[in-house]
Amino acid sequence: MVIVDEESSLKIVRMIGGEEAVKIVRLLLDHPGKTDEEISAETSYDIKDVRRVLHKLNEVGAVSYEVHRDKDTGHRIFKWKVQQEQLIGYSKTLIRKVLERLKARLEYENSNQMYWCGTNGCSKYSFEQAMEQLFRCKMCKKPLTIYDNSKFVENLRKKIAELEAMV
Ligand SMILES: [Zn+2]
Repeated sequence: MVIVDEESSLKIVRMIGGEEAVKIVRLLLDHPGKTDEEISAETSYDIKDVRRVLHKLNEVGAVSYEVHRDKDTGHRIFKWKVQQEQLIGYSKTLIRKVLERLKARLEYENSNQMYWCGTNGCSKYSFEQAMEQLFRCKMCKKPLTIYDNSKFVENLRKKIAELEAMV
């Protein structure tokens, strides 16, 4: 059984629309059916930002709306709510995709010795690439030496463990 809790979903929400999205989703979880204007008033975010975030969340199915008509003005009103199941489903799919990518990267890091010039921003090269370039960096022309990836690998493992705990 795969479980994504609310905190994990909110992390995904943060990735989609930043802190604004988290605050809006939290508000809608507690009080479903709020309008754009009400959300704007209660979060003190600009109405344009509220609509932009809601649109982003709606694109991935995390929120949905019902259209009502204002009795006095005849204007259309959008009432929003969080689609928890879709949000959780989307979160799981996204986390699994990221996990796959990180695991592939870990396998690559574990089975390939990389070469590097030591300059931040320059590429790291496989043995074959380094040999082709006669062990000189393509970018800054400095000599290439074996790159110690143990810290990077350790960080990868941590990130993988963290994500695995989420799904
Ligand atoms: Zn370089």
